[in-house]
Amino acid sequence: MDTTSQKIAFLGLGSMGRPMARRLLDAGHPLTVWNRTAAKAAPLVEAGATLAANPADAVRDADVVITMLADPAAARAVAHEMVPALRPGTHWIDTSTIGPDAGRELAAMLPEGVTLTDAPVMGSVDRAATGDLLILAGGDTTPVAEILARLGTVTPCGGPGAGAALKLVLISAAIAGVAAVAESLTLAQSLGLPRELTLRTLGAGPLGGAVGRVLATGSHFPVALAAKDVALATTNAELPLLETVHRFLLTDPSLLTEDLAAVAR
Ligand code: NAP
Repeated sequence: MDTTSQKIAFLGLGSMGRPMARRLLDAGHPLTVWNRTAAKAAPLVEAGATLAANPADAVRDADVVITMLADPAAARAVAHEMVPALRPGTHWIDTSTIGPDAGRELAAMLPEGVTLTDAPVMGSVDRAATGDLLILAGGDTTPVAEILARLGTVTPCGGPGAGAALKLVLISAAIAGVAAVAESLTLAQSLGLPRELTLRTLGAGPLGGAVGRVLATGSHFPVALAAKDVALATTNAELPLLETVHRFLLTDPSLLTEDLAAVAR
């Protein structure tokens, strides 16, 4: 079956949503888009997407709905508007990082015959643009496999909620790694060691991936979203290290809109 005939509604055209929606449009899917700030949809509309006036209109005729929203509050707000308009047979894929608790709230709102897959992603705006995201899927992705393949590689995590759960584990570990590199650089500086030497030698050890993230230039994962993810993780278990990392991320409010790497500058 040619799945490019599947009509997609994409809601949430922030830094991640825009390149993801663009890939689906470029693949030939009929695409309807909605974003709270409508102006961000302009380049997609110019490229052939249809702009919906509200979330309900966006999803009314969709076969597949994809949401990419900031946090649980955003997902709830959009869900309240769009869920009553979902028709039976629609597949809803939530790629936002909202954690399993909020995911369960969304699942409880589903009308008969609508499925919801939690599919949060690892990888930033650069990998969203090239279709190289790591997609952590909770639940059955078979009906939307080809759509997800346009966006990245799917790792099946188990039943509903398992993707949202693994995302919190992976992202909070990655953020803690960046915080550890940041603090190591502070220590090295106070000991009079050159930054380049410190990064090179730290990078050859177990924190290599975190050093790579600190040096990455194609990512845009704002510190505020990182703090949101760490806070979501700490609601699920007692995690004193991550609670400290959360406070660390909020130390300098001027960094909140900057990419996570800014904390290690
Ligand atoms: P972003 O650029 O801040 O975009 C957030 C989106 O949520 C925008 O479309 C925004 O609409 C919308 N939104 C926020 N509050 C809303 C509300 N109350 N009602 C309706 N819409 C609302 O964030 P992003 O970087 O695209 O990230 C999106 C999600 O992916 C987050 O959960 C993030 O943690 C996760 N993620 C991000 C990255 C990354 O590198 N950036 C990587 C992996 C996962 P407006 O445009 O109107 O503000």
